[in-house]
Amino acid sequence: MIRTLDELAVSGDAIGVRVDINSPIGQDGRLDDDARLCAHVETLSELADRGGRVVVLAHQGRPGGDDFTTLESHAARFDELLSFPVSYVDATFGSSARKAIESLDPGSILLLENTRFYSEENMSFEPSTAADTHLVSELYEALDLFVNDAFAAAHRSQPSIVGFTERVPSYAGRVMETEIDALGEIEARPSPRVYSLGGAKVDDSIEIAETVLQSGLADTVVTSGVVGNTFCYASGVDLGPETESVIKSRARDRLDLAEQLLERYPDRIATPTDVAIERSGERTELPVTALPVDEPALDIGTQTIASYADIFETAGTVVLNGPAGVFEEDRFATGTKELYTAATAAGYSIVGGGDTAAAMRQLGLSGFDHVSTGGGAALAMLTGEPLPAIQALDDGA
Ligand code: ADP
Ligand code: MG
Repeated sequence: MIRTLDELAVSGDAIGVRVDINSPIGQDGRLDDDARLCAHVETLSELADRGGRVVVLAHQGRPGGDDFTTLESHAARFDELLSFPVSYVDATFGSSARKAIESLDPGSILLLENTRFYSEENMSFEPSTAADTHLVSELYEALDLFVNDAFAAAHRSQPSIVGFTERVPSYAGRVMETEIDALGEIEARPSPRVYSLGGAKVDDSIEIAETVLQSGLADTVVTSGVVGNTFCYASGVDLGPETESVIKSRARDRLDLAEQLLERYPDRIATPTDVAIERSGERTELPVTALPVDEPALDIGTQTIASYADIFETAGTVVLNGPAGVFEEDRFATGTKELYTAATAAGYSIVGGGDTAAAMRQLGLSGFDHVSTGGGAALAMLTGEPLPAIQALDDGA
């Protein structure tokens, strides 16, 4: 049984809270976007408000990346966002971290240093082994309770995600709870269920299409973005050299599987019937029957949008991942804007994906039943895969 904050009694306890505030970092090495911090304000405020001594654990970037940096500026931003005092310590475990926890007042919040500064956090473990890592074994005695609110990292079995649940009573935070409610038991959502796969993670999307078509989670898969171009190509359309080279750089291993899926499920996979290219500096739409052309296909066209909108209108559930085109450029944001707007007509609509969530904000799109904070975690959940963090909460202390 997964417990939520409703079942958590606080009285000056030290509560470890794992959040996911992994964010874009600017040239100056400081936080560039606070959307992920904002998502956790509710959980952190609720725990501080109840008199908890709130100890926040989080990661930023990965070793070797430009965004692999300290959480000092995240703490400063939390201090502005929260109406409770927020402090920061440049240690994750060990004596200085434990001292900072000991001297923390009820109703205040401490952000520990980037968990991934410690090599163990960059590896995967079974929960019982994760509980014996330095990070968990040196820290858990300083904590009375553990709350996991890091849904976007829930598909990883790293020490701070799956280790504490073995050692201290554990709870799902508000973000985690909301995500589980919205994305769990997708098989119980009304049918027909339509999965709309766009974006540029081609191999992953081909595998997702196979999983959801085979399991019956999806009645229909509609494709757009580079994923749509790939299925178009796999169906035998010559899209021209530019589009083909984008496809080949993204689809390394799974092109054969895309062809097989089209043969296996000819009526359950929809591919674009027209595309938009840039010609003489303008958006120009062409039916796929007019291809090949030299210019790359950067968006789906009006006819494709209309036919996918018809599919969405009669759908019980629509799951959307990936932008339909290069939405970062105004002229090629039309497909994403209209496709996602059309999806709100479905009985229940769920949006997941990192760039997709950014596109929703940039284009001002709303009206969905749920917009997930997770990319990989949301997709894993929407294909029926068990998530390590959720299992650990379920099995833990
Ligand atoms: P998410 O992060 O939501 O899962 P992806 O990372 O798979 O989404 O894809 C996002 C990227 O796909 C965007 O940067 C967008 O520009 C790109 N994209 C979408 N359609 C096309 C296209 N036709 N050609 C090239 N890039 C595309
Ligand atoms: Mg992405």
